[in-house]
Amino acid sequence: MNNVSEMFGSKVFNSATMKERLPKEAYKAVQNAIKDGSRLDSGVADVVANSMKDWAIENGATHFTHWFQPMTGVTAEKHDSFISPTDDGHIIMEFKGKELVQGEPDASSFPSGGLRATFEARGYTAWDPTSYAFIKGKTLCIPTAFCSYGGEALDKKTPLLRSMEAINRQALRVLRLFGNETTSVKTTVGPEQEYFLVDREMYDKRPDLLYTGRTLYGAKPPKGQELDDHYFGTIKSRVAAFMNELNEELWKLGILAKTEHNEVAPAQHELAPIFTTTNIAADHNQITMELMQRIAKKHGLVCLLHEKPFAGVNGSGKHNNWSISTAEGVNLLEPGDTPHENAQFLLFLCAVIKAVDDYQDLLRISVASAGNDHRLGANEAPPAVVSMFLGDELNEILESIDNDESYGGKEKVQMKIGVHVLPRFPKDSTDRNRTSPFAFTGNKFEFRMLGSAASVSGVNMVLNTAVAESLKQFADELEGKENFNEALHDLIKRVIRDHKRIIFNGNGYDDAWLAEAEKRGLLNLKTTPDCLPYYISEKNAKLFSDHKVLSESELHARYEIKLETYSKMINIEALTMVDMANKDIMPAIASFIKSLSEGVVSKKAALPTADCKYEEKLIARLSTLLGVISDRCDALEKTLLGVIDAGGDALATAVYYKDNVLTAMNELRLAVDEAEVITDRKYWPYPTYGDLLFGVR
Ligand code: ADP
Ligand code: MG
Repeated sequence: MNNVSEMFGSKVFNSATMKERLPKEAYKAVQNAIKDGSRLDSGVADVVANSMKDWAIENGATHFTHWFQPMTGVTAEKHDSFISPTDDGHIIMEFKGKELVQGEPDASSFPSGGLRATFEARGYTAWDPTSYAFIKGKTLCIPTAFCSYGGEALDKKTPLLRSMEAINRQALRVLRLFGNETTSVKTTVGPEQEYFLVDREMYDKRPDLLYTGRTLYGAKPPKGQELDDHYFGTIKSRVAAFMNELNEELWKLGILAKTEHNEVAPAQHELAPIFTTTNIAADHNQITMELMQRIAKKHGLVCLLHEKPFAGVNGSGKHNNWSISTAEGVNLLEPGDTPHENAQFLLFLCAVIKAVDDYQDLLRISVASAGNDHRLGANEAPPAVVSMFLGDELNEILESIDNDESYGGKEKVQMKIGVHVLPRFPKDSTDRNRTSPFAFTGNKFEFRMLGSAASVSGVNMVLNTAVAESLKQFADELEGKENFNEALHDLIKRVIRDHKRIIFNGNGYDDAWLAEAEKRGLLNLKTTPDCLPYYISEKNAKLFSDHKVLSESELHARYEIKLETYSKMINIEALTMVDMANKDIMPAIASFIKSLSEGVVSKKAALPTADCKYEEKLIARLSTLLGVISDRCDALEKTLLGVIDAGGDALATAVYYKDNVLTAMNELRLAVDEAEVITDRKYWPYPTYGDLLFGVR
């Protein structure tokens, strides 16, 4: 299959395949389920399942799985084969409707944040017909949501689907006010995925990469990213071969892989798909990350998805491009041609502005992780302060509405919503600010704080819900108003006035901005433990429960899991550092000192007056450093023991890890990195930063 259009979607049970294979009635029922979430009756489900199975078997599958996204951040699957015994000792290949629609995996080993008592080990998976089934290897994968016995969400998909429902509900109310009769509103997402590729042999020699996904030690190489010669540079042949295979596999799965290029750091790359409906984009991004890792191995490479694999080198993010569109595919964040369309555009824009300001804390939390803490605010990614960039033109328009002034200065009339046409913004003039966490880029917003390893579900769940809340308030206010245009004008004006503090068009990497942001009363929540307490505030719990996205107990569970994950990650990192120091690093330095010392002895024996300055200096320096490393290693271990006394609850523990364990880790690293620079290459137990970053040829 060399033809891309033939290849595209060939491993997906998509609409075209369904149309071809399903009886008309069954096809219609599935389409309805996709459109409005209506349930399939069991007869139809049997027909669909059977047809899906036949198709899967023809395409080499022997098993099926309910594919879901527990709160571990990776996807989970438990494979069942299609075989079913017959009375005469043979088998038939069977797949029933109820197996398609619902599954009951043992949920006891997935994080539940206390939602699932251990005696209720079972969880339920329920088919999400809006995301097509696909074949991976020999397995038919059925995208599903994952819930507890009591119906509480145990995964990332369920709340995302609920949030899409919430924004659909409220956006439709607003659109009706403009006479728009569309049947549904969906948010769309196009995530740009950054990643590193390193040589597999070198990777295998680094326990830190193996256990934690990032380097815990490593001195700066003589050359880093300062020449900017990697960005958009020619792609090396091994990397190109990887990218080609990745693209083909993604296309077969119906994933619209589109752009690929080298990124800023050496060994760093990016892949961007064409945007699609949010929950599908989330599924596709999970599959993309999984395939990147699998295919890299086939090319003797390892794909690092960690947000900060190398200190001192740019980390990896995942820009979340987000917009809202109608069933007809009309983008609601695209300025229109008529005053009427522009009034609607401005109202949706204001809904986003208000949402980002009111729920800055939730947006910050949605990107919080131990890994991403190393990246945010490090002059390579947006700061931890959430703000929005609108561009000069749009900003000027908002200002003129706010001040009752004319826009553009030509005609001296007030900028009146519903009367004036906004100028068309040339698209590329709006995307020159790369330092903003949340930038308007012509017809969508680009949220740039998300880290490369994260699922996109969390951020989009927050965005959808927060914007749904703005839209709800707008609809409540505008519905039934006699003079709609007047009411609309007043509302937009008020929203701009109340929320313009969140708009910042300057350099987000500048320290002056942090001071200014503080003056404006914006939150600056630097780390994961700093921001998580806001997750469960009354305001946020109310938002999620009002829109039926997360109940209070579901929210609490997520809060606990996020904190626990943070502490666990750092704990693993600390233990890995201790292990590496004890078993490899200190012995290596000691051996080098020994060899130097023996060298001095034999040199002196041969020539008593010989100069041994180099050896003596090194022996002295390395001996001192070895002592320091040993002390700091002990100190780190002692700090780890102190966790028990940190106060017990998840927050106190996470704060302890941040304040004490991370500090002890940094100190240990400093001494080790210093020793690395002066130790004979032959003795150093690990590939260096130079090897890792420039080793793929
Ligand atoms: P840049 O590198 O300049 O930020 P890219 O072209 O690499 O831009 O990525 C832009 C991303 O935005 C793509 O994934 C694209 O599909 C996505 N995108 C474009 N329009 C929309 C939209 N309406 N909704 C969501 N995502 C969108
Ligand atoms: Mg981008």
